Amino acid sequence: MPERASGEFWATLKPIANVFKPDAMPESYLANAPTEDDRYYVPISDTVSSRPLWISPQRNQWCDILMAKGAGLVNRHYHPHEVFAYTISGKWGYLEHDWVATAGDFVYETPGEGHTLVAYEHPDPMKVFFIVTGPLIWLDDDGQPDGYFDVHQYIALCRAHYEKVGIGADYVGQLFR
Ligand code: FE
Repeated sequence: MPERASGEFWATLKPIANVFKPDAMPESYLANAPTEDDRYYVPISDTVSSRPLWISPQRNQWCDILMAKGAGLVNRHYHPHEVFAYTISGKWGYLEHDWVATAGDFVYETPGEGHTLVAYEHPDPMKVFFIVTGPLIWLDDDGQPDGYFDVHQYIALCRAHYEKVGIGADYVGQLFR
């Protein structure tokens, strides 16, 4: 425990002695996930960036903060797997649905859905916590497959960007679990 209890009712409780099984990986703690430090946001389209929080190469999965300042677009794509989203700030939606998400709104996208993500003009930047299972399959104007984006491309993008902005490519490896 990094900080002692002052008067909380649990102050005398003992932590578990053997926290991790021998083959378990350590937990991950990231302060201030939706940071205002722009360097942490990796451009994934001309108008939308992503701050990786957690990356699982084995599961082809990642958690991130998706961010856009003003109007934004992530081109149409198809998800063979599910997507979870929690809106921290701003205003966003998919061209294919009726709802518009703002701060506090939760979204679950079922496996087997195609969509086009748009961010609206808003006083606050769009910041959305996403849990994504790859790959995304890019779609052309006729809705036909036109390339893909999976965890390995995501990792490569993040490494290149973090190296460029001075955080260092190695930072990305710390997020792997
Ligand atoms: Fe999507």
